[in-house]
Amino acid sequence: MTALTDLTIAQAREALDAGEFSARELAEAHIKAMEQHRTLNAFITETPERALADADEADKRRQAGQAAGPMDGIPIAMKDLFCTADVRTTAGSHILEPFTPPYESTVSGRLKAGGSVMLGKANLDEFAMGSANITSYFGPVTNPWVASGGDNRRRVPGGSSGGSAAAVAARVAIAATGTDTGGSIRQPASFCGIVGMKPTYGRCSRWGIVAFASSLDQAGPMTRTVQDAAIMLQAMAGHDPKDSTSAPYQLPDFSAKLREGVKGMKIGVPKEYRIDGMPAEIERIWQHGAEWLRAQGAEVVEISLPHTKYALPTYYIIAPAEASSNLARYDGVRYGLRVPGHDLTEMYENTRAEGFGAEVKRRVMIGTYVLSAGYYDAYYLKAQKVRTLILRDFTQAFEQVDAILTPTAPSAAFVVGEKQDDPVQMYLNDVFTVPASMAGLPAISVPGGLSDGGLPLGLHLIAKPFDEVTLFQAAAALEEAAGFTARPAGF
Ligand code: GLN
Repeated sequence: MTALTDLTIAQAREALDAGEFSARELAEAHIKAMEQHRTLNAFITETPERALADADEADKRRQAGQAAGPMDGIPIAMKDLFCTADVRTTAGSHILEPFTPPYESTVSGRLKAGGSVMLGKANLDEFAMGSANITSYFGPVTNPWVASGGDNRRRVPGGSSGGSAAAVAARVAIAATGTDTGGSIRQPASFCGIVGMKPTYGRCSRWGIVAFASSLDQAGPMTRTVQDAAIMLQAMAGHDPKDSTSAPYQLPDFSAKLREGVKGMKIGVPKEYRIDGMPAEIERIWQHGAEWLRAQGAEVVEISLPHTKYALPTYYIIAPAEASSNLARYDGVRYGLRVPGHDLTEMYENTRAEGFGAEVKRRVMIGTYVLSAGYYDAYYLKAQKVRTLILRDFTQAFEQVDAILTPTAPSAAFVVGEKQDDPVQMYLNDVFTVPASMAGLPAISVPGGLSDGGLPLGLHLIAKPFDEVTLFQAAAALEEAAGFTARPAGF
């Protein structure tokens, strides 16, 4: 029999329904794995008692013939950016280290109502700012993958949802929540060899998620299969009157077309994504992706997204601007840490100086600078205008194609310590994921194969707004053609 920790959501659900094992047994197997793999540092807070209590409830419901839905009894990791009632929520920051919210985020609340079993709060970059999970106050996360050929150096899991990605790849959690502002679900999914999906902006409620950049933040599923991502998104998404940017639409059945293939579909390959100095292995995996889709009956055409090169620079104006405003609330008065001073101003200063890490401070400084009176028009307003042009590129492209194929990240997982001293090198990780974020589009990373060094590489698909059904359809075809079955050694 397959180990309990190897099951997908779909498989586990079927076995639970058939009474092959209980939700408690499933939870226990994952709690054991969580303990065994503590060296990954994938969790900031483990919640095993909560997991067992959730599992017992799930078992009771099933015995009564009242399973809550497809996630009932499924053990998951919750990125520690989702407020969870009575469970500490840190956002990976010292400033929120002592913060236990009295309320539950809409998305985590929906997953709970759907019966999922929470194993713990997953580690992340501080306030979700980063691409390597090295900015967390609670220490870096290790990628469970090591390179082939005896190179045993520890690698980063990507970021910011690095704990979530590592937990799913290491078979500690069947699935995990992530959030994605510029790539934080998709890039770690690529680095850890799993599926990571960012829905259309507005598909999932942001209510109760610690805010980074409000016009970009989206929650999404991180799983080992495309089918699981569709199942999990179904349980997370939907209109929420508490978030005015959440879309007031009825949810489609995200799994509706998973088996329909890509025959007759038109897939665009944007020529501007062929960036200078792109490693040959990235180019190669991208070409494979296109060939696989073509072999299954899709028509692959070259498209142009001329404003692509401005996406990253404008993201790094808009995201810090919004972050500087969102993070103003951490003042030592309302949440978390307080470091006393002689007067109120000094208390603010001491609290923020001690509570925020270097990357967060850098973003607050950039953000306040680009929003300041003399520079607002030159930077922030200009970036907003460029953002509109980026969206227009996509709108025009989608008049021709159903989905767009690109690599997810410009490299495989790098060694811990690399790129650490050069923020610009780190920011370049998001070059392929940020444009879809700027345009609010749904996108997914699917494992495509292994790099020359034996590390996973993701392929990235982007679809029209609110067309997640087509996105999952194409992604399932890509997943099948790629036939990725590799797993990290020892997990
Ligand atoms: N790595 C990007 C950043 O540092 C994206 C982070 C995210 O999507 N939360 O901003």
